[in-house]
Amino acid sequence: MSEKICSVAIDGPAGAGKSTIAKAAAARYGFIYVDTGAIYRTVGLAAKRAGVEPRDEAGVLDLLPTLSIRFDYGEDGAQRMFLNGEDVSALIRTPEISMYASAVSAIPGVRAYLLDMQRNMAKTTSVVMDGRDIGTVVLPDAGLKIFLTASVEERAKRRLAELAAKGDPSTYEEVLADMAQRDENDTNRAAAPLRAAEDAVRVDTSALTLEESIEHICALIEERFSLGA
Ligand code: C5P
Repeated sequence: MSEKICSVAIDGPAGAGKSTIAKAAAARYGFIYVDTGAIYRTVGLAAKRAGVEPRDEAGVLDLLPTLSIRFDYGEDGAQRMFLNGEDVSALIRTPEISMYASAVSAIPGVRAYLLDMQRNMAKTTSVVMDGRDIGTVVLPDAGLKIFLTASVEERAKRRLAELAAKGDPSTYEEVLADMAQRDENDTNRAAAPLRAAEDAVRVDTSALTLEESIEHICALIEERFSLGA
């Protein structure tokens, strides 16, 4: 019996809880979790290493064909990013690389270059894919689209806790300013701006705990795909 392929697209601003929720939901149903932000972060890291200004469109586009970018999944199911064969999964999780990612992701040629890599993942296997344009551009036919939001203050608080747990000394004010700046970049860019697909279910997690958010999203998945009955 062939299993049906389910695609869940989760979009929203930085810090809304997309990755944690998507990861938990994917694990519950045996779907693959695809973190598309990590791919843009890897391009950002490559630009930084090459000394290319991330808003320098021609410079970044020249760099792309010289890069080998791929990802796989470790024993624990975590997505690992490789840049020219090097595992850069931890290196891409810094505030500086967040900004590089945000800048390179505004370049249309970068988005086009990375499109197939993302789409191909959803062709053969069920996925929960998170990003900014998954429901609108990458997987417009996804069976379920979710637009996850939370207030910018709440998102900054959550991101600060994540960074602090890794020993990052950023302050709340810095994280809040970075987050507001990224929201601004991601929402106002011409290429695939952050916005909800018309058929997306909007979920505001400001007043929900992580557990409540996960249960809410899982209930939407079960209902849409008739799972767990
Ligand atoms: O999701 P994450 O915060 O890791 O993404 C880093 C940056 O990559 C975002 O600020 C956004 O600019 C960009 N991005 C994007 N499209 C996606 C995923 C991420 O433009 N699908």
